[in-house]
Amino acid sequence: MLSRRNVIASAFWLALSGTALSGAALAQAPAQPLPVVATFSILGDLVREVGGERISLTTLVGPDGDAHVYSPSPADAKALAEAKLVVVNGLRFEGWIDRLVKASGTKAPVAVAAQGIRTIAAADDHGHGHSHGHSHGAADPHAWQDVGNAKAYIANIRDALAKADPAGAETYRANAAAYTAKLDALEADVKAAIASIPPARRRVITSHDAFGYFAKAYGVAFVAPQGVSTDTEASARDVAAIIRQIRKDKVPAVFLENVTDPRLVERIARETGAKMGGRLFSDALSPQDGPAGTYIAMVRHNIRTLTAALAD
Ligand SMILES: [Zn+2]
Repeated sequence: MLSRRNVIASAFWLALSGTALSGAALAQAPAQPLPVVATFSILGDLVREVGGERISLTTLVGPDGDAHVYSPSPADAKALAEAKLVVVNGLRFEGWIDRLVKASGTKAPVAVAAQGIRTIAAADDHGHGHSHGHSHGAADPHAWQDVGNAKAYIANIRDALAKADPAGAETYRANAAAYTAKLDALEADVKAAIASIPPARRRVITSHDAFGYFAKAYGVAFVAPQGVSTDTEASARDVAAIIRQIRKDKVPAVFLENVTDPRLVERIARETGAKMGGRLFSDALSPQDGPAGTYIAMVRHNIRTLTAALAD
C-alpha cells in the first residue's frame, strides 16, 4: 500500500513529466507570449496575423476609432510600458504616439510598419483647394489601402517580431508567408472588381482623403472635402469646389466612412443628386462581428460597396 507521502511524490512526478511532454508545444506557443502594442485596429489585425499565438496584442485605437485625433489613456501608457515591441503605421498618422512613447517610459523598440514603402504626397493633386496647410509636403499616411503596401507592412512586422523574439523567427516567417499568399489573392480580386466598373464611372467622393493609395494602385478617382487628416473641418470653399466638380464630372456616387461625421457627405449628395453609395472603411476596422472585422474583410467590403454603386 502506498504511503500518503508516496502518493504525493507520484503526483509531483506526474506533474513534472506532464510539463516535459508539453515541451514541444512550448516551442510553438511560449508560456509567456510577447507583449506587443499596435496603434490602431487595421494594423493590429496585421500584427496578429504574423504574431499568432506567440504574442499578446494590445491595440490602442479600436474598431471604428479615429487614430488621427486619438487621446491616449493611462491604460495605453501602461500597455506601452509593459510592451516588448510597439508597432506604428508611421508617416505621421498617429500624431500622438511620440509623446505617448516618451510619457510611458517604455524601453520597447518602435517598429514603423510603413517603413520603406513608396509614399504619395497628400491630397494636393485632387483639385479641391489648398486650405489644409498641415498636410502640404507631407506623405499621405493611409498606405494600407493599397494591398501591395499591406504586404510590405507584413514583411516589416515579421522582421520586427523576429528581432524582438528571435526564438519565434521561424513561426513569424511562416505566418507572414501564408498571409502574404492571401493578400496576393485579395489583390487579384480587387483588380478584377475595379475592371468590372466602366472607366467613366470610376469616380468617387468620400469625406476625408483616405483612399489616395487605393486610387493610385487600382485606378479609381477619389475626391474628398477634408484633407488626409480628420483633424480639420472642410472649408466652405472646398465644399463648393467639390459640388461643382461632382456636377461637371458627373460623379455617380458619394460614400460615407466609418470614422467620419456623415453629415457633410450627406449634404453633398443632397445638393448634387449623386447617390449615397454606402459606407467605406478607411482608417479603422468594424467590430469583429461587423462587415470589416479584419483587414481582408475590410478590403472585400470596400470593393463590394464600390462596385455595387458604380458598376451599372
Ligand atoms: Zn485618415
